[in-house]
Amino acid sequence: MTEGDYGRSPALAGSVSSDLEESEEKALSKRVYIETYGCQMNEHDTERMLRLLEGVSYNETKEPKEADFILINTCSVREKPEHKIYSALGRFKKLKEENGAIIGVAGCVAQQEGERLLDRIPYLDMVIGTQAIPMLPQLLQTIEVSGKRVCETGFDKNRKYLEAIFPQKPLGEIKSYVTIMQGCDHFCSFCIVPYVRGREQSRPSREIIEEVKYMAEMGVKEVSLLGQNANGYGRGLEGELAFPGLLRQINEIDGIERIRFTTSHPRDLSEELIQAYSRLSKLCEHIHLPFQSGSNKILKAMHRGYTRESYLEKIDRLREICPSIALTADVIVGFPGEEEGDFRQTLDLMEKVRFDDLFSFKYSPRKGTRSAQFEDRVEEKVKQERLSILQEIQKETTLQKNQALAGSAEEILVEGRSKQSDRDVTGRTRSNKIVNAEGDLSLVGKLVPVRITKGYAHSLRGELVPHQCRLQSASCGVKSSEFLI
Ligand code: SAM
Ligand code: SF4
Repeated sequence: MTEGDYGRSPALAGSVSSDLEESEEKALSKRVYIETYGCQMNEHDTERMLRLLEGVSYNETKEPKEADFILINTCSVREKPEHKIYSALGRFKKLKEENGAIIGVAGCVAQQEGERLLDRIPYLDMVIGTQAIPMLPQLLQTIEVSGKRVCETGFDKNRKYLEAIFPQKPLGEIKSYVTIMQGCDHFCSFCIVPYVRGREQSRPSREIIEEVKYMAEMGVKEVSLLGQNANGYGRGLEGELAFPGLLRQINEIDGIERIRFTTSHPRDLSEELIQAYSRLSKLCEHIHLPFQSGSNKILKAMHRGYTRESYLEKIDRLREICPSIALTADVIVGFPGEEEGDFRQTLDLMEKVRFDDLFSFKYSPRKGTRSAQFEDRVEEKVKQERLSILQEIQKETTLQKNQALAGSAEEILVEGRSKQSDRDVTGRTRSNKIVNAEGDLSLVGKLVPVRITKGYAHSLRGELVPHQCRLQSASCGVKSSEFLI
């Protein structure tokens, strides 16, 4: 942790300014609007940038037309999100003409395109790469003072971009992300990440522990550890803990009730990590383990470093150790050279595993990656057909798995009001499924037992287990005294 450049230290961050100071601050402050594309990593980067900008009196607005600074945090993993960014820039051009807003692009597209973006978009003021986030306030100031357009996309050898950025105001959040590593060294042949996020770098565990403890002091109950391959944590850091060791330490932190991590590479899923699911009480029973394809021929061309057999063995082992574990994954259809038989192998793997949910994508060639050179491309129409077939099958599996939960007892962490009804609250099970149940806002931030009454395509319906019933937990089939509110 560093003070100064990156915000106040934990001890100072809790101090409350007087109402007067606050209203004066508000009057002087400017507004920032950040539009975020892509993965949780990007969402977390957006949070970090907002924290940094608070330190130079920029407060968040959800309305682009109110903003003095508009920043688009971009994703270039596939072509579609990349295209959306150019249309977003088109929308914001008008706002710049109307109120002179400063416009910037951050994230993977910024890293990839650099100065070319400034050349291509004359009204763009700032391009800020993935490792330059700590420089955001400084870059903004340069534009404000000099009117110069700026571009910063260097990779940061001093690893400052990995350091925590502590919030200056109480978070008021019950769930929080903590980055444990950045970048990737796996170089899957389809993937742009190693080029736009840099080489794999883990943060020292003591910094991570310090950040999680701070989050716990701020009232956070659930922490999600983030990394392109979170389960490869510690590689290359001399004398550092491996991932299961890091989980053990976080499991000891008072106040943290749940631990999640995303995402994992099958190659880095060790027996020790599998065992952690039965040993660590706070580790939630869910793993996101992308398989990408069920065909060994395609896995080899993707340079994934495992086979369908070894993937399935790991799934069996996970289920042996933790029978209730929920499984989700990423899969790509239409990778170059994917024939009908390869696609059938993917469907077969899905049938064998019966995932709780899947993120499925059509292969999208990315400039600079190895597979972009492969010639045996699959026709767009075939890719679309395969994607639709796969998604239909998964939709049915997800629904069946959710329906099968009817009658079961689950614990949810209540997050807030449900979007569907003012009488309902919403939360997630340890297996990461959304549950809506009738209840009031006094439950927010609490772990409460629910009985599932119905399963739908994207969520579950539940009812809170009455207090009395919780006291007689055995007769209700609700297993733990943790269920007491
Ligand atoms: N590190 C994770 C892993 O190894 O599985 C994945 C991170 S990647 C940012 C997220 C997902 O995007 C991948 O799992 C993959 O399914 C998808 N993806 C990445 N590159 C892609 C491409 N060129 N075309 C289609 N999907 C892609
Ligand atoms: Fe991309 Fe492969 Fe690294 Fe995942 S492991 S981020 S898919 S290169």
